[in-house]
Amino acid sequence: MITKIKNNVWKFAFENFGSLVYLIKLKNKNILIDTSSPDNIPELESDLKSLGLDPQDINTIILTHNHWDHTGGIILFLDAEFYASKKDFGENLKDIHKIEIPELKIIDTPGHSKGGICILYKDILFSGDTIFHRGTIGRTDLPGSDENEMKKSLEKLKKIKYKILCPGHGSD
Ligand SMILES: [Zn+2]
Repeated sequence: MITKIKNNVWKFAFENFGSLVYLIKLKNKNILIDTSSPDNIPELESDLKSLGLDPQDINTIILTHNHWDHTGGIILFLDAEFYASKKDFGENLKDIHKIEIPELKIIDTPGHSKGGICILYKDILFSGDTIFHRGTIGRTDLPGSDENEMKKSLEKLKKIKYKILCPGHGSD
């Protein structure tokens, strides 16, 4: 299901289990945030098609963290540049802190995973699995999770000004 969040931002939600995916269309860049699970590849592809986009039209992919339900669709986008935290992905992807898209502010939010990030674009916060709607937060009982780091990340997010929350799961 496709929801328009703003005139250049869309949300994709899927039939099968997997993360939400967000599209930000900038002047000369199409950016995806997360790619959902392998099961949702056909639906993601057809959702993009219905917005007039082929997978090759996606230039940049940002992964909020290294969990399979967010990274499962990456094989659709072999032409894209992938950005994420080195703390989750090592040298495999480009360092998110070196991304040259000034409209995006990257916030390190470890806790759910070591290299979790949130992305602020205008008044929209893309929060991965750090925070969800209705004040719920990501699990901290997984390998790589850290409850104390999560507490610090939540404090950090309280200082961020945003109007629209776009988390990795759930509906608003
Ligand atoms: Zn996760």
